[in-house]
Amino acid sequence: MTDKDRPSTWKTYSQGLCRGCHGSCCTMPVEVRLQDLVRLGVVHEDEAAGSIKKVAKRLKREGVIVSFRQGTDLFMLTQQANSDCVFLNSRTRLCTVYDRRPDVCREFPAIGPRPGFCPVRKE
Ligand code: SF4
Repeated sequence: MTDKDRPSTWKTYSQGLCRGCHGSCCTMPVEVRLQDLVRLGVVHEDEAAGSIKKVAKRLKREGVIVSFRQGTDLFMLTQQANSDCVFLNSRTRLCTVYDRRPDVCREFPAIGPRPGFCPVRKE
């Protein structure tokens, strides 16, 4: 059994591994960039051209993000009480914004805590 918090327990990623998975990777903290938030449709391009701190403040107030790191300009997406990503459907275990999902989600597990490995969990 894998433990998302212990990458040494993760399985080598292979095609088809995601089928039937509980969506463990979508229960890990997700950091995104401004351009991801624009693609997600939660920030308008006009707003993105303005103050990034103001954007962060609004998104925090609306519960889309929990924090913003100045310097790296990374926003941390909100996780639900059970650690699910704010965009994960808790029943189907599928991403509700799949076509608009952030780059980091598209690139996982090629990038991540243990590149090429996955915290797959079938239930
Ligand atoms: S945005 Fe979608 S793919 Fe990315 S962590 Fe959230 S539910 Fe998963």
